[in-house]
Amino acid sequence: MGIANWEIVIGLETHAQLNTASKIFSGASTAFGAAPNTQACAVDIALPGVLPVLNRGAVERAIRFGLAVGGTIAPRSVFARKNYFYPDLPKGYQISQYELPVVSGGSLTIRVSPDGTATEKHVRLTRAHLEEDAGKSLHELNGSHVVLGHGKSGIDLNRAGTPLLEIVSEPDMRSAEEAVAYAKALHALVRWIDICDGNMQEGSFRCDANVSVRPKGSDKLGTRREIKNLNSFRFLQQAIEYEARWQIETLEDGGRIIQSTVLFDPATGETRAMRSKEEAHDYRYFPDPDLLPLVISPAWIDEVKAGMPELPEDMRLRFIKDYRLPEYDSLVLTSSKGMADYFEDATRSTMAMAKTVLGMGGQEPVLSGVAKLVSNWLMGEMSAVLKDREMFIEQSPVSPAQLARLLIRILDQTINNKAAKDVFSSMWNGEGLDPDALIETKGLKQISDTGALEKIIEEVLAANPRSVEEFRAGKEKAFNALVGQAMKATKGKGNPQQVNELLRRKLG
Ligand code: ADP
Ligand code: MG
Repeated sequence: MGIANWEIVIGLETHAQLNTASKIFSGASTAFGAAPNTQACAVDIALPGVLPVLNRGAVERAIRFGLAVGGTIAPRSVFARKNYFYPDLPKGYQISQYELPVVSGGSLTIRVSPDGTATEKHVRLTRAHLEEDAGKSLHELNGSHVVLGHGKSGIDLNRAGTPLLEIVSEPDMRSAEEAVAYAKALHALVRWIDICDGNMQEGSFRCDANVSVRPKGSDKLGTRREIKNLNSFRFLQQAIEYEARWQIETLEDGGRIIQSTVLFDPATGETRAMRSKEEAHDYRYFPDPDLLPLVISPAWIDEVKAGMPELPEDMRLRFIKDYRLPEYDSLVLTSSKGMADYFEDATRSTMAMAKTVLGMGGQEPVLSGVAKLVSNWLMGEMSAVLKDREMFIEQSPVSPAQLARLLIRILDQTINNKAAKDVFSSMWNGEGLDPDALIETKGLKQISDTGALEKIIEEVLAANPRSVEEFRAGKEKAFNALVGQAMKATKGKGNPQQVNELLRRKLG
């Protein structure tokens, strides 16, 4: 048989920590990184007699999510107790939602490009429910705050009670790539609607991947294994690929898959069983008598809706319509809200400046042209430097207005594109944020003086008789070589268009 004869089926359960200042049922802080047990109050450590009080902000974030994915927001949902014993869960149960979750349905659009053409797919969501995070067990750790001896474990309850939205997908994904695309789309969305900071290193966004395989053509689902707690997109990809290959080999060797929970070991890239379904807990869910049902009125939903930002897909379509941007640009620019906002700010600033700088000279700046220039810079130079420094665009030292001041100097032909890149990297390197001052001190002004360019070109032609001959013999490549030489002779500061025109004229 072999891999090609099997279909991989994946459904994801994602835990997104909601970015409220305090916990879901107590007033303790949710800030990450405090000394152990300094942010765990009486409710979080489950002292007798305490009562949970629901955090309105957590509910609002769940509503935001439901609206963003086109799900149904339950007018009445119920908190349940999920009973199990673990040292990081002092109550002996986790408060979660079971039969009646706050959000049902909805979908998420993902794009994967198996052969370079981005194909769109809608992944259906089953539900999203509110619950509390557990604490953390620390083993033999010797961190900045914790010193545990050999073989010792400690418990940090700071995370206990941090609000979580657990988002469950239908088993709609068919490859590790699709699962990663889904996780990335979800990650971008929760950040876009500002309900989760998305910090995966700190565990703010983590995925469980349910994986099964079945013979191609079969419409019956295979038995799944669930890979727990994947906290990076790379691990998600590796874990699913390994798990699917393992299941296929097991079945082809005549074995069977036992429904179980498995762990991924980043060191070996392998998954291994933790517990099987037979050993699985019976959680004895029942409605929590300490909490009233969660009632969400249409008026509350409307209020939350009014405070929602424009959603990525709406913004993407608007970018195509308003700025005449290509499909590809619209996708890249709406990959995060920070990028989209930066794009619009920079385009607005550049347009405003272009109207005064260029408009006075006669030619009106064209919005689509300016937008495409800004887009090229964001997708090119800006994305490259952000990637290199592992930064978000919100952290860029170059503001949209400052980028606009640089781009205007390309538009008014003060500098060419190459010089502009030079200025841009100076701005990033702390040499200053005023493009005009940098152009001046670095001597990057473009040579647009026809007389000066003519002189340089004559010298270049005299120094390269072979290229001239070849060009006259019909070799277009020779022309490019001459342009290159001429630009070099101007130290890269020649106006490329003028250099081209002058060369053609002299050779013609
Ligand atoms: P549980 O809560 O026990 O993990 P659910 O039935 O709620 O079980 O399923 C959890 C996740 O597993 C969902 O994302 C669902 O899409 C996915 N899933 C269910 N069956 C399969 C299967 N056969 N193969 C892959 N994923 C599956
Ligand atoms: Mg599960």
